[in-house]
Amino acid sequence: SAQDAFVEDLLEQLQAPVKVGESDYPVSFHCGVVRFPQQGDEFDTLLRRVQVSAQQAKHEQTFLYCYSSGLDEQHLRQLHILEQLQQAVTRDELTLLLQPKIDCRSGRTIGAELLLRWHNQQLGFVGPDEFIPLAEQSGLIKRLTRWVCERAVELLEQLPVDSEHFSLSVNLSAVDLLSDEILALIADLEVQRPQLNRNLVLEVTESAIVSDPDNAIARLNWLRNKGYGVSIDDYGTGYSSLAQMRQLPVTELKIDRAFVQPLADSAVDQSIVRSTIQLAHELGLYVVAEGVEDEPSWRWLQQQGCDELQGFYFSKPISAIDFAQRLQGEAHA
Ligand code: C2E
Ligand code: CA
Ligand code: CA
Repeated sequence: SAQDAFVEDLLEQLQAPVKVGESDYPVSFHCGVVRFPQQGDEFDTLLRRVQVSAQQAKHEQTFLYCYSSGLDEQHLRQLHILEQLQQAVTRDELTLLLQPKIDCRSGRTIGAELLLRWHNQQLGFVGPDEFIPLAEQSGLIKRLTRWVCERAVELLEQLPVDSEHFSLSVNLSAVDLLSDEILALIADLEVQRPQLNRNLVLEVTESAIVSDPDNAIARLNWLRNKGYGVSIDDYGTGYSSLAQMRQLPVTELKIDRAFVQPLADSAVDQSIVRSTIQLAHELGLYVVAEGVEDEPSWRWLQQQGCDELQGFYFSKPISAIDFAQRLQGEAHA
């Protein structure tokens, strides 16, 4: 249509690099589109909706986003979440749940992954899949990461564990790897617990590394050299091959639950997981499978020599009190 031709023409012109002096600068543009008068007939409404749509285009990294109803409500909710999240730490609204990490051979609990939960007065319970991305975009995540790591140190002091063979895993975001604050944080925690490296594993995703590989790898190297475990989370959902993984300073590969959940009845997923475990082991990596939901999957992973498991079959994420009870129960079993 004439409209499409107009947009294509616009896109072509805007995509050309801008020349400043001798240099060409790539510039990115994002457009919001609102239909008048169907989607608003007042100036303020149109402007707000077009702005929200342009932001959405930027967020989705597309050139153009057409306003759809509900988008400004969604946008308002995001603003509200961001505003409330600022005070989540000081108002003591965050809690941590622990999901048991299971030794694949024995079925015993050998650690836990720390997962954030947030309950706010006004918003109620907000799930991590909703607030973590917003915390990442706003940089607030660094404060949350600090809080989680501080709690990890407290938990290591409180839980009834044999600290030689127990580890807590903490999730790091791309933003955490983009600044030296993470190094300062670890150094701070080591004042309190010098041997922290024996019990802390840092989980990072491939995409967190890809966003600025040189810097991310330098910081991961720093952590590795200090003896911390580094795990590649959600492995298999990104683009990197295991061959590329080998270049990274990591100790552990965590196979994404998308491949693990269907294991019992999917031959394709079985062959993906089988070859991933084999190759990872050849590269000297420790292999974790997440999302184990039934016993046949566990037995199968056991046969393949997988090292560690997580999943609802063993336990969903639980409170520190319930986790301590679980450990005690196992010790007396
Ligand atoms: P993740 O790091 O991949 O964490 C594992 C998620 O899988 C958790 O969801 C957990 O409840 C869920 N899960 C565990 N076992 C099973 C299973 O057998 N079946 C199924 N269907 N799901 C299972 P949760 O707690 O909702 O966390 C979602 C995501 O939020 C996490 O994914 C992580 O990316 C992020 N997140 C949570 N806490 C933190 C945090 O402290 N820092 C950062 N940066 N991200 C966090
Ligand atoms: Ca994780
Ligand atoms: Ca994961």
